[in-house]
Amino acid sequence: MFDLTDNKVMIDGNTKVCILIGNPVGHTLSPLIHNTLASICGHDLVYAACSVNPGKVKRAVEGAYELGILGLNVTVPHKIEVMDALCGVDDIAGQIGAVNTLVRTDHGFKGYNTDIYGLERALLSEGVSIEGETVVILGAGGAARACAFLCGLRKASKVYILNRSVDKAEELATAVNNYSGYSICTPLPLDKYESINEESFVALQATSIGLYPDVNRAVIEDEAFYKRVRFGFDLIYKPAETAFMKLVRRGGGECACGLKMLMYQGIAAYEMWNDTSVDDKQAGIVYSVLTEAAYR
Ligand code: NDP
Repeated sequence: MFDLTDNKVMIDGNTKVCILIGNPVGHTLSPLIHNTLASICGHDLVYAACSVNPGKVKRAVEGAYELGILGLNVTVPHKIEVMDALCGVDDIAGQIGAVNTLVRTDHGFKGYNTDIYGLERALLSEGVSIEGETVVILGAGGAARACAFLCGLRKASKVYILNRSVDKAEELATAVNNYSGYSICTPLPLDKYESINEESFVALQATSIGLYPDVNRAVIEDEAFYKRVRFGFDLIYKPAETAFMKLVRRGGGECACGLKMLMYQGIAAYEMWNDTSVDDKQAGIVYSVLTEAAYR
């Protein structure tokens, strides 16, 4: 356990261990999230990051189980490969097709996707609820899948999925429509945003365009689009204000970056591992530590 008050690390034979597996893991902020949580929640737990080569994920997860690891996070590029190593996959994680959190059971690790809950809690903290909303999702990759299934799960009224490769938008729209049992998703090519009927909507930016160091680009740059964005959420968190967010503000809308989503996906995992709940005050402490580390 890392003691924030006097910077002491206290680890003994009872300390629980959680890890992140990915490749690379050098830049991850997850250890900061979880070790801060352990400190403020008073749990005897440490969290470390381990680089695992593609093709070796099953062996790594089996080894982690035998070593008594309490829980794992899984990041790029292992979120799909890891599913072969699990005793079960949560329904919504299976639908999304990606697992980022492993929870220990008596039979092995079970896989979950906490990105979807991280996104929901980040949006709620900005006063945005998906239920009944018109939502425009930019992108159809892994992160966009979490966005689209959140819209299906929480009953958005209408969802447009715009992607450069329209076949991926079509596949995702069909999957969410089948999952939610009603036809809420419409796929569109990226440049067909003018065919969106609604005059005001929430936009979720889930492409990799605008990610540091390519900070001056947005996936749509037409200011007319942004005049209709009531609230814009960029899943990218570096830089803190992306080109997409600047365009949303210029169009008169409010916006936020993806740092809170990153934090809340970690908090959701931490809550599952420790059978606890993290309150707003504790989340606020984690967020200030995280902001300082992400943008220093
Ligand atoms: P993927 O590689 O799975 O998807 C990338 C998406 O970006 C695809 O829709 C792709 O379109 C689109 N794209 C890439 N290049 C271009 C381009 N030149 N023009 C138009 N579209 C483009 O990545 P992820 O979904 O995993 O991640 C997307 C972003 O979300 C990343 O920047 C990541 O950092 C962020 N993220 C943030 C999280 C958080 O907690 N805040 C969690 C997860 C992700 P196409 O299908 O046509 O290739």
